Order: sequence, then C-alpha cells, then structure tokens
Amino acid sequence: MSIRILAIEDEKPIADFLIRGLTEEGYQVEHAPDGQSGWLALQQQTWDLVLLDWWLPGEDGINLLKRFRTRNRTTPVLFLTARDGINERVNGLDAGADDYLTKPFAFEELLARIRALLRRPTQSDSLHLEFSDIKVDLARQSATRAGEPLDLTAKELSLLIYFLRNPHRVLTRTRIYETVWDENFDGLSNTLEVHVKELRRKLEKLGPRVISTRRGQGYILEESSTCSDA
Ligand code: CA
Repeated sequence: MSIRILAIEDEKPIADFLIRGLTEEGYQVEHAPDGQSGWLALQQQTWDLVLLDWWLPGEDGINLLKRFRTRNRTTPVLFLTARDGINERVNGLDAGADDYLTKPFAFEELLARIRALLRRPTQSDSLHLEFSDIKVDLARQSATRAGEPLDLTAKELSLLIYFLRNPHRVLTRTRIYETVWDENFDGLSNTLEVHVKELRRKLEKLGPRVISTRRGQGYILEESSTCSDA
C-alpha cells in the first residue's frame, strides 16, 4: 500500500509542484487548499505524513497543527515556512511539528526530509539533529558538543542546524545566505564568514574542526579526519 501524504497548501504553484513531484515518487498525495478543508481531511482520514503550510486562508497552519496535536500525537507533520524566522520555527516545533522546511526549497531536500520523518519511530526522536559528537535539540533550540553546552547566538544555531541537515555536502555561500539569512547574497558581505568563524571557534573549544572551507565553493560539514583546511 502506498504512503499517503496530505498537503495543506494554498499557493497553487507550490501545491501543483508537490502533488506532481510526490506522485512521481510513488506517494499517494491529497491536497487541501485552505485551513477548513485541511482540518476536514485531518479529521476524516488517516495520513502517514502531513505537509503543512504556515500561512493559509481560513485557519492558519499553526492553529491547525495545535488542534490536530490535541487528538493525534504521532502523525509526522512537516511545516512549510515562508521565511526562515527563528520565531516561526520555534512556534512550529512547539506546536508539535516534527520538522520544517523553508520556502523556496529544493525538491530533493523535501524528499529527504519526508523519508527521514517516515523512518522515525517516535515523535520524540525526531526533534534532534546529530553529527559526530555534536547534537542539536530542535525543540529546546539548544546545542551540545561532547555533552557540553554550546553557547550559540540564534544565527549561529541556525547556521549549525543548516550544516547538520546537509552533512558531507558543499554548501555554497549563496545557498547558506539565502537559507539562513533569508536574503539575497550580494557577494560582498563578510557577515557569513564572521558567523562561520565564530561558530567554528565555539565548536573547536570542545573538539576538532568539522566545518571545512572549500575555496571558491563554500563550506562543508565533514568528519574531522577528512577536514583538511586551516
Ligand atoms: Ca500560504
């Protein structure tokens, strides 16, 4: 039996993209274009996973999620947020979302998140990210390395979360900028470098380097044994 996904999304181009892409991947997708029809679909049928937009006509995603969680704790919910604002993400996770994705997103990343959520045995396991001895608790918005707390700013934490979600992949400065800063990268600012430097400094107080620079390309999160640059 195929996996059933409910997509609650009012923007037609995004909804069409989700329905087409996920159907091609073998998922059975139903679409609800607003809060009311989304709520009906949540009540009347069971789903393996729910994709939930933040801003919806009728009832917005966060209220829908809160109501849904009062009666269903286990169905994974992936939040689609339009901005990478930390408050939205925290509110979404607090309201019971298992994960979130910031628009615009790459379809490949959406698929990876869906696979990960469908693999997860319980909700409580889904609120953590890990790489080597680094851990992030998404619900608490806190991070540790080797069991020691990391005192990160909100931006450094967002940056670390982005690296942890994309290990062993070169992340271009443009991509990081657009995802973590939610702004267009002008190619001149050194803001990103400053934050990476500070994040590294804090991480490296507790262990070896894990964020490498790939000259002319960007950054990559990798095991310290393969981490080569200074
Ligand atoms: Ca929307």
